[in-house]
Amino acid sequence: MQKKVICPGSFDPVTLGHIDIIRRASRMFDHVVVGVLNNVAKTPSFSTEERIALLRKTLDGIDNVEVVGFDGLLAQYAKDNNITAIVKGLRAVSDFEYEFQQALTNKKLNSELETVFLTCNSDYMYLSSSIVKQVASLGGDISPFVPECVHDEILDRLK
Ligand code: ADP
Repeated sequence: MQKKVICPGSFDPVTLGHIDIIRRASRMFDHVVVGVLNNVAKTPSFSTEERIALLRKTLDGIDNVEVVGFDGLLAQYAKDNNITAIVKGLRAVSDFEYEFQQALTNKKLNSELETVFLTCNSDYMYLSSSIVKQVASLGGDISPFVPECVHDEILDRLK
């Protein structure tokens, strides 16, 4: 059976930390779905379409990765799309409690669904989309944080 997994997130906007996890997942599994959360509870800085376009541009050329938008329960989306695991990056102990709770909840909702945690790359341990937004809004250089091919698009929207 093909191992199809999902990397879910807001990706508001995509960072080098996200890409590192997605690339590594693409080497471990047959097919990786990057699930862009259309989360109505949060007001994102980038629309779902913009977040998807930035990811697609960055991930262009990796054949076994697709980028989709999704709403609703991740556990249900996984069931409906034959996804066997959720792949997440763990940055620090502070991520752990929330991620642990999410993983156990998803397991209750869909007993077939596993959650796999990849240790983040030590270069990106501090990195989040919020940090990118904060630095850009204060006029700082975001080039160490975001993929080069989408740097200008991200900066134009945030400054
Ligand atoms: P954030 O706003 O914190 O960047 P997202 O919801 O967009 O969060 O992130 C999606 C997933 O990507 C998270 O579950 C997390 O596992 C992973 N991730 C985010 N940033 C990093 C990073 N710097 N290193 C490794 N994984 C990361």
